[in-house]
Amino acid sequence: MNFLEERILKDGIVKEGNVLKVDSFLNHQMDIELFNKIGEEFKKRFEGKEINKILTIEASGIGIACIVAQHFNVPVVFAKKSKSINLEGEMYVAEVESFTHKCKNNVIVSKKFLNPEDKVLIIDDFLANGCALQGLIHIVQSAGATVEGIGIVIEKGFQNGGTIIRNLGFQLESLAIVDSMDAENGTINFRKQ
Ligand code: 5GP
Repeated sequence: MNFLEERILKDGIVKEGNVLKVDSFLNHQMDIELFNKIGEEFKKRFEGKEINKILTIEASGIGIACIVAQHFNVPVVFAKKSKSINLEGEMYVAEVESFTHKCKNNVIVSKKFLNPEDKVLIIDDFLANGCALQGLIHIVQSAGATVEGIGIVIEKGFQNGGTIIRNLGFQLESLAIVDSMDAENGTINFRKQ
C-alpha cells in the first residue's frame, strides 16, 4: 500500500452517491507534506517527459498543482469556471459537468497562457467520469498545445473516466485507484498497481 492509500484509509470518508470525502487532507484542509510526496511521485512517473506547464481546474486542483509544479519548475495555469456565455475570442472554452455539484460550467483559459509550443501536464484531485479531464484536454488541443501526461491523485476505478482517457491514448497516472467503496461500512478497496 502506498503513502496515499494509507492516508485515504485513515482519513477518507465514504459518502452515499459514490463520493469519497477527503477534505481533512486534500480538498479543504491541505496537508502540504503529503502534497510534496505527491509531487515527487508525479515527477518520477513522468520522468523523461518535456513538461513546461501544468494545467488544472479550480478549485481543488489548484493547491495540488502548485506544489506539484515546484517539482517540475514550471508555471501553473488553472481553468476558471464561468457562467458567462459570451466568452469566445480571448478564451479557450470547454463545457464541463461537475460530478459533485451536478451542474454544467463553462471552463475557460485565456489564450495568453496556452500556446502551440506548450507541453502540458494536466493535474487534478479526482477522476470519476472524466468530464473535467476531457474539458481540459479539449482546451489544450484547442490551443494547438500537447498533453504530455495526466496526473490524478485519486481515481475512482469503478467509474468510467479512467477507461475513456486511457483509450484516448494519454499517459494517465493515478496515485490511488479505488476499485470499490461502501458507504454503509466505510470500506475502501484499492487496485493493485
Ligand atoms: P469527473 O469530471 O471525472 O466526473 O469528476 C472529476 C471532478 O469531480 C474532480 O475535479 C473532483 O473535483 C470532483 N469529484 C469527483 N468525484 C469525487 C469524489 O468522490 N470526491 C471528491 N471530493 N470530489 C470528486
